Amino acid sequence: MSVLIKINPDTVKKDKDVGSAYSFEYEDTDVECNGCGSKFTHNELEISHDGYSTTCCPDCGEIDCCEIQYQSLSEYRKSK
Ligand SMILES: [Zn+2]
Repeated sequence: MSVLIKINPDTVKKDKDVGSAYSFEYEDTDVECNGCGSKFTHNELEISHDGYSTTCCPDCGEIDCCEIQYQSLSEYRKSK
């Protein structure tokens, strides 16, 4: 089961320098490692040495330790 990382509504703003592009940040979301069961926020997830996995456990080093899905800007708009 994957965890949805939602866009933080307070951080969505139009980027004047890039015309129509928007900048935003994601909300801190709790995730759990499938390997050691440790809980932490998605911001603490580490990138594997080969750069292939962006969901490595900061505690036990498990690669792809959890499944996360980032909300897209269009999904965010639909949910409003
Ligand atoms: Zn772990």
